[in-house]
Amino acid sequence: MDDMSCNGCGASITPGEHSVKFKCPACGEMIVRCSKCKITSNNYTCKKCGFVGP
Ligand SMILES: [Zn+2]
Ligand SMILES: [Zn+2]
Repeated sequence: MDDMSCNGCGASITPGEHSVKFKCPACGEMIVRCSKCKITSNNYTCKKCGFVGP
């Protein structure tokens, strides 16, 4: 099971939520942002390499 949490605010991602997934531009690690952070364009931090992006 995937236990994912938002890379922006740390909230757990619930199935069916309009979250966005993409790969870290620096290291390729999967980044997840919840719908709230997507709307507010909250910054995310890569858990693996520490990359911070909008
Ligand atoms: Zn979030
Ligand atoms: Zn990274």
